[in-house]
Amino acid sequence: MLLKISTTYAPATDLGYLLHKHPERMQSFALTFGKAHVFYPEAHAEKCTAALLLDVDSVALVRRPHGRSAENFALAQYVSDRPYVASSFLSVAIARVFSSALSGKCKDRPQLAETAIPLKAELSILPCRGGEKLLRRLFEPLGYTVAAAQYMLDPQFPDWGQSRYFTVTLENTCRLSELLTHLYILIPVLDDEKHYWVGDAEIEKLSRHGEDWLTEHPEQESIVRRYLKHQRHLTHDALARLREEDAQETDETVQVEEAQVEERMHLNEIRLATVTAALKQSGAKRVLDLGCGEGKLIRKLLTEKQFEEIVGIDVSHRALKIAQERLHYDRLPEKQKKRIHLFQGSLGYRDKRLAGYDAAAVVEVIEHLDLPRLATFERVLFEFACPQTVVLTTPNIEYNVKFENLQAQNLRHKDHRFEWTRDEFQSWAIEVTERFGYTVVFHPIGPEAENVGSPTQMAIFTLEDSGRQIT
Ligand code: SAH
Repeated sequence: MLLKISTTYAPATDLGYLLHKHPERMQSFALTFGKAHVFYPEAHAEKCTAALLLDVDSVALVRRPHGRSAENFALAQYVSDRPYVASSFLSVAIARVFSSALSGKCKDRPQLAETAIPLKAELSILPCRGGEKLLRRLFEPLGYTVAAAQYMLDPQFPDWGQSRYFTVTLENTCRLSELLTHLYILIPVLDDEKHYWVGDAEIEKLSRHGEDWLTEHPEQESIVRRYLKHQRHLTHDALARLREEDAQETDETVQVEEAQVEERMHLNEIRLATVTAALKQSGAKRVLDLGCGEGKLIRKLLTEKQFEEIVGIDVSHRALKIAQERLHYDRLPEKQKKRIHLFQGSLGYRDKRLAGYDAAAVVEVIEHLDLPRLATFERVLFEFACPQTVVLTTPNIEYNVKFENLQAQNLRHKDHRFEWTRDEFQSWAIEVTERFGYTVVFHPIGPEAENVGSPTQMAIFTLEDSGRQIT
């Protein structure tokens, strides 16, 4: 599939700066599903065109360990349009190959990145479920002039009618980052399929990439619904989120790296289920969720009768507000309301409110603490709060090589201060048990890969004289 982007802004070759790709060079990028090539079919001062050619490896696609094998029908492995059409693969390629341009960054021409310039995008082949009508309804409100040529299913058999495949031209005067963002979100929307698991993290992507335009778009609902693969609860959350998007963005909890997303695993769901199971097994009735974020674990714990009291604590007011909304706290029956408490607090300070609970969950939090503050956290939790059970998870850095969108040396999230290997985590945990009188067992969470283990690592600490042992 081919995406061409042209401009007539003079000097047009500045497009090379905006895309961070030199007009005189052809460059190739390896992606897990194939290769992306960038080159310039024309590059003059009056007009410049950059092309992104995506060469999807159809065999590798079928052989991927978590591939889309036989998903839809028996011949799916053999008869598939995926290698030839613009789909979520193209979105991933845009994010990888044009990442700076997508986020509107340009070291050499910062002013130009901020300027609306005449741009034209040509896409072949673009599948549009919903036809030309939907294509127009999506792009025209954003200011695009749309031209579309539809293909027949087979010109030799005109009776078969039209296919859902188009060659599409979109013209607009806008910033390059806007054009790329619109393509990035709307291509999978038109295609109405995704090659990877869609979970909560996709909501983050939508809010992040859609904040300037999606909140006002007349097709907002169908965009969100299709983008989230028609999953009702996600769509509901995303729309609620977009509606409150005018609130100032914070980076604290809401940015989830693509690396976690593009893996076809339900990692977040698996993690929450595993932590819930561990808490249940501990026999705990009154539990803390430390660094509860937007309250995903709390929502899950609430469905378990065993937990009579669930207390979520987070340093971020905004996260707590979202948690409250997601829990539909105001609409909960009194009995349920009584089970939940949310309050703002920091794990960097001793806090009397944390004392006296049976168990504490600390899910994907410690890596957000500055290493020098970790010692304080240890005392706050294990010495002062001192619950009988602590269920703690953190990323396993060894697994990062498995994430397709993660550059070597990068951590999984902008706010992570560190990520540990299994050895580092276990040494830390064992040292904690020795100092505070706990025992510990370790469990991997998520699919285990050879030599690098699982994406998430979990430790279950038990207070030595608590009399309860996790098996
Ligand atoms: N446990 C949640 C959120 C993980 S993100 C989940 O699994 O979805 C990490 C969370 O830790 C964020 O919500 C962040 O605000 C919170 N956090 C970071 N530092 C903290 C601190 N010192 N005290 C309390 N919470 C903190």
